[in-house]
Amino acid sequence: MTISRQDVLDWIKNVAGVLAENKDYLTQLDSAIGDADHGANMTRGFQAVLTKLPAVSDKDIGTIFKTVGMTLVSTVGGASGPLYGTFFMQAGAVSAGKQDLSAADWGAALEAAVNGVVMRGRAVLGDKTMVDALTPALEAFKDAVVQNATIGLALTRSVQAAEEGMKATIPLVARKGRASYLGERSAGHQDPGATSTFLILKCAAETWANS
Ligand code: ADP
Ligand code: MG
Repeated sequence: MTISRQDVLDWIKNVAGVLAENKDYLTQLDSAIGDADHGANMTRGFQAVLTKLPAVSDKDIGTIFKTVGMTLVSTVGGASGPLYGTFFMQAGAVSAGKQDLSAADWGAALEAAVNGVVMRGRAVLGDKTMVDALTPALEAFKDAVVQNATIGLALTRSVQAAEEGMKATIPLVARKGRASYLGERSAGHQDPGATSTFLILKCAAETWANS
């Protein structure tokens, strides 16, 4: 089974809805260890993406992802804009010309996306950032594909790993981003970016459950 162009468009649309529904939750998390704008940033970015989708809805998956990434970079001012922008632009570069994605294709796109975030933000596992959800999600997806899991099962395992990574940020002291200014006081709070990553990946697993 594969992820079609329409599946990709559906995912992005669903992400916009999920982030809007979780705007207050993400803002609350960011108010504890940041500047209380993560919910607004993600919602603004994906609402802008929604306005760009009609123009690329008949294009290949690479073009769709690149458009999402460029829109996030140009509409989200915070740290998360360039980072999620890079995520989608890198996924787009790897998916150039594709009309659908196999499990291996999504694994390659996710790998390029996560590597892009790490290169851009220079955060490593344990720094209390979105990387703490992204890296385990990528590893779990790749492991599942090696074991010949269906895309649906591989996505489920990937989301479980993202959720564990997200929860594991709670006791950590932030070493990157705005939360790092708080030092030890950042411990005891869940990272907002790891949380939005979990929501975005959960939305992929739900949208693509039957792929
Ligand atoms: P800002 O911090 O500029 O207000 P947001 O509030 O939208 O931006 O996003 C904050 C999130 O960005 C953090 O919770 C963290 O997950 C992520 N983040 C910040 N800096 C980095 C980095 N260098 N690498 C990876 N993720 C980062
Ligand atoms: Mg913020």
